[in-house]
Amino acid sequence: MKPNPNLADLPLRPELVGEEPYGAPQLDVPVCLNVNENPYPPSAAIRAEMAQAIVDVAGRVNRYPDREAAGLRGALAAYVGHGVTPAQVWAANGSNEVMTHVLGAFGGPGRTVLSFSPTYSMYPEYARNTHTTWVSVPRHPDFTLDARLILDAIAQHQPTVVLITTPNNPTGTSTPLTVIREVLAATEAMVVIDEAYQEFAHHPDQTAVTLLPEFGNLIVSRTMSKAFALAGGRVGYLVAAPSVVDACRIVRLPYHLSAQTQALAQVALAHASEMLANVDLLRGVRDDMLAQLPQLGVEVVDSDANFCLFGRFADRHDVWRRLLEQGVLVRETGPAGYLRVSAGTPEEAFAFFAALEAVLAEGVERA
Ligand SMILES: *Cc1c(COP(=O)(O)O)cnc(C)c1O
Repeated sequence: MKPNPNLADLPLRPELVGEEPYGAPQLDVPVCLNVNENPYPPSAAIRAEMAQAIVDVAGRVNRYPDREAAGLRGALAAYVGHGVTPAQVWAANGSNEVMTHVLGAFGGPGRTVLSFSPTYSMYPEYARNTHTTWVSVPRHPDFTLDARLILDAIAQHQPTVVLITTPNNPTGTSTPLTVIREVLAATEAMVVIDEAYQEFAHHPDQTAVTLLPEFGNLIVSRTMSKAFALAGGRVGYLVAAPSVVDACRIVRLPYHLSAQTQALAQVALAHASEMLANVDLLRGVRDDMLAQLPQLGVEVVDSDANFCLFGRFADRHDVWRRLLEQGVLVRETGPAGYLRVSAGTPEEAFAFFAALEAVLAEGVERA
């Protein structure tokens, strides 16, 4: 092959031809409300402890890290509570890697993963990368789910993995535990409940983790990227039966979780209440957005997460671009006509309201 080939010259897998890498623009903008991060960094005291933990790890960095991440999984089990043991916890580089492990173990060629749209835009990529068929069935028009809709879809598509996001991204919609229990009781498929935003819910204690003693096919997925303010640390985890963890162990890359990652996350978990201190504040900002957006004459979808889906605009890209011109970055995602805004600090939310008001005053065509 000639040097410096183009992508088209390479023997890329056929299903990857024309694909674009994921996606949310990383722009240098004063107000970033596009990827649902916690806007508050750790305190100086926690940062100092993280730095010391990295120094300690560096003294052993000639050695491979703990393959089983035993210390981290123990700390995660203690954080999750509800009697969860370390053997029920699996951790990886963000819940995106956790989900890749789940599909690597339970999906694969000839198998189907079923989800409910609109939902997280990354799922189809995990399916593609693990050669699993992706099927997405529409939610009800108000973006809710009930057991009938889910079980009908399971009967029709015969998935080995069912993926339910609650609170859902990008709509913020929660699915009640009663619905999840009814689904689990009626299927042998692995049911993944993605609770990435659970800490922001109006009832965070109503978690699918409480159903684990009843159902061996339940996998609850969580992340430290959102409420826990550790998006840069890249730690996601699942809670399930120990045999599910064994299955993930088969497909993970050796030593997948670096020593630095494990150490940083353990410092964060040792200070869980401080790392989570601003969750109530962010919930308040979310509730403000739910109240204020209708007053600006904008539709907003009820949300249990740290973001809101609002619209509907005839040309949402134009509204996105005009907000960006005012220094406010939101996300162009979800159903046609909608944009998604993260609950940042009260100051960032104020900047967003002001920018949106200015854009609306210039005139915006509605869908
Ligand atoms: C943000 C998000 C995650 C977390 O991804 P990480 O890889 O852990 O950062 C998982 N699921 C959903 C639905 C999300 O929106």
